[in-house]
Amino acid sequence: MPTRTVKKVKLKPGSERILKIIGVVVALLLIVFIFYRSNINSLKKIGYSEKAAKTILSKFKKDYCLQLGENKTLNAAFESSDYIEKNLDTYSKVKYRKQKHLIKNINKLIKKKYSNDQISTIITHGDDKAVSEFTKRDKVRYLDEFYTLDYAKLALYDRYVDFMNKSREDAEGSVIYVNLDLDKENYKDYSFVKDFSYDMLINKHRALSPKFIPPRLVKINKEYCTDGEKIEGNEKAIDASETMIAAAAKKNIHILISSGYRSYDGQKEIENMYLKLYGENYVNKFVAHAGFSEHQTGLAFDFASAKKSIFTTSDEYVWMFENAYKYGFVYRFPKGSEEITGYTAEPWHFRYVGKEIAKKCHDEDITFDEYFAKYLY
Ligand SMILES: [Zn+2]
Repeated sequence: MPTRTVKKVKLKPGSERILKIIGVVVALLLIVFIFYRSNINSLKKIGYSEKAAKTILSKFKKDYCLQLGENKTLNAAFESSDYIEKNLDTYSKVKYRKQKHLIKNINKLIKKKYSNDQISTIITHGDDKAVSEFTKRDKVRYLDEFYTLDYAKLALYDRYVDFMNKSREDAEGSVIYVNLDLDKENYKDYSFVKDFSYDMLINKHRALSPKFIPPRLVKINKEYCTDGEKIEGNEKAIDASETMIAAAAKKNIHILISSGYRSYDGQKEIENMYLKLYGENYVNKFVAHAGFSEHQTGLAFDFASAKKSIFTTSDEYVWMFENAYKYGFVYRFPKGSEEITGYTAEPWHFRYVGKEIAKKCHDEDITFDEYFAKYLY
């Protein structure tokens, strides 16, 4: 029987050593890799992205970052090709906003000698475009005066300064006026409000197109209308009116509605009628031009008293003045706010905005225009 000889491969002593070295190197690399990954993971755990974490390690800033904990601006800095080492302290202190040129803009603002707090202020008062534009101008003088207000807009800085110089308003007043475009002429250079919403603002600077018709127009209960007229309004606003009128009736307060939704053409007829009767000055002061009337939203109503012909002398007026906000209505054109609202006081005209906004306007004692300038603009 032939015997099989198994040949044992024997490595030369030299090759064995090489393999051993390779083994050690691979093991070392593995250890380094595991260590590297655990560092990356510890940074990711406190909110850094993979990309930022890699840069942090390559720049030997791991301990610095771990010590600070989560910091979105730093994360953006380490992700950005605009990162500058000497600006690191500012990056760590400036508030974060998701903006495409955040780090580039911070660098520019540091160059203009703004403080860290001021840079935060600038970043948080505009979008990427507004901040980028702002970085192009020389250091401004009244940054802290205007921008301690949350609702001051970076892009409007020059208009705020102009308005404050020309008017008797302080910084806060100037911001509100300019946010409402009140530094512009009435009925000129206005914008269009396209979409219906319960918090839409229509005034002499914010118009509706002739085609705008509010959704879900319904007729109000005939009993609640003056002369049994068919008055329409948005369903939710009508519901709120009826609830309010019914609640008032229980207290012997008898409110009626004399006007609700008016179409663009309807308002145009009214405008023309008053124009013929009293002329342009009167119309500009007392009658909304077509497209600029809140009645076109289906959310505004004129109220009346069932007991007295002059509304302001009635218990109904007093009751509404004190209670309408509980049903989601704001007293739209109050006395003393003519410059803000653009209208002479109209004690009968109320606007449905929903309970939350109405309560806030009531509690802060502000008009809906001011509410808009502060919270919705
Ligand atoms: Zn009205």
